[in-house]
Amino acid sequence: MSEPYRHKKQLGQHFLHERGVVDRIIAALDPRPGDRIVEIGPGAGALTLPLLRRHGELTAIEFDRDLVGPLAAAAASLGTLHIVQADVLTVDFAALAADGPLRLVGNLPYNISSPILFHVLDHAPHVIDMHFMLQKEVVERMAAAPGSKVYGRLSVMLQAYCAVTALFRVPPGAFSPPPKVDSAVVRLVPRPDGDIGIVDRTLFARLVRDAFGQRRKTLRNALSNLCSSEHIEAAGVDPGTRAEQLAVADFVRLCNALAS
Ligand code: SAM
Repeated sequence: MSEPYRHKKQLGQHFLHERGVVDRIIAALDPRPGDRIVEIGPGAGALTLPLLRRHGELTAIEFDRDLVGPLAAAAASLGTLHIVQADVLTVDFAALAADGPLRLVGNLPYNISSPILFHVLDHAPHVIDMHFMLQKEVVERMAAAPGSKVYGRLSVMLQAYCAVTALFRVPPGAFSPPPKVDSAVVRLVPRPDGDIGIVDRTLFARLVRDAFGQRRKTLRNALSNLCSSEHIEAAGVDPGTRAEQLAVADFVRLCNALAS
């Protein structure tokens, strides 16, 4: 870029400058010939350009119009970069996957990382896997096990639909400007539809939201708008426990019992 670029804080613009971190993300992604890779938030291309050099073709979704021209110019000699200038929350990943399922990658804007995760989950059947950089605390919540202080709605919703693996931490100094928080890279692999076993996904989302809405309450109280203690017991779950003690499989069993 000819002039120094003014980072837009409201778009979560913290650009990676540590080549070692870029290399680790690409190694974790391990692109294979024919993979349809889609990057969310390419920014100035810290990940995009090395990935393009290695893989030859890539789609990148960027909201900031000011970045699109310079990115296209930088990519021109490296391979075929399809830039979608759009808010990722409006992107129809099913349409992008018309020719085959996608592999998603991105150093996400942290201010909207949960909405992005939920949007992508809605398109999970079209996604092979995802490698995302996020705020470290968010990755800890995503990967948390029952009984942990940070186990909550995000953990259950993501783990119900995906295998979640926290990969490695990244310090603020790897970015320019540095964020105030530590970061981490996570891998999400959507489970095959048949393995999920949730019969009513809308009910599941509501059940999990209500259960963790007041996490100090017992399930009996937290779910009183949705079902009775008898319903909970009939699903083999103790109504006197709290949501944070319940495994993902218990939530699925409870949801399916309620749905029937
Ligand atoms: N990938 C680059 C890197 O690692 O240096 C940039 C990462 S920066 C943390 C997040 C990027 O997401 C920025 O380029 C920002 O403009 C873009 N972005 C923010 N909100 C977005 C949205 N709603 N849709 C698509 N891109 C968005």
